[in-house]
Amino acid sequence: MLKQPKYALSPTANEVIDAEFAGFSSIDEGQGFWYGFENHLMALGYERIAEAPCSCADNGWHGHQSECRWFRDWPNASKL
Ligand SMILES: [Zn+2]
Repeated sequence: MLKQPKYALSPTANEVIDAEFAGFSSIDEGQGFWYGFENHLMALGYERIAEAPCSCADNGWHGHQSECRWFRDWPNASKL
């Protein structure tokens, strides 16, 4: 398993809260939670790194958090 590079950043707590609000807004618009959530994080420069290790505070013990595996400045990340 890959280790998280020290300089790759996870979203801050406030950014996650904002993304969750964006997700709830997109539910109201009929797009579903993830549409708003993921687009908000991508607008901030984050992307979901599929091969990254779990980034949850408890390593996913209680299930993965919405922001699991979202990082900024991940090396060699594909720019979509
Ligand atoms: Zn996780």
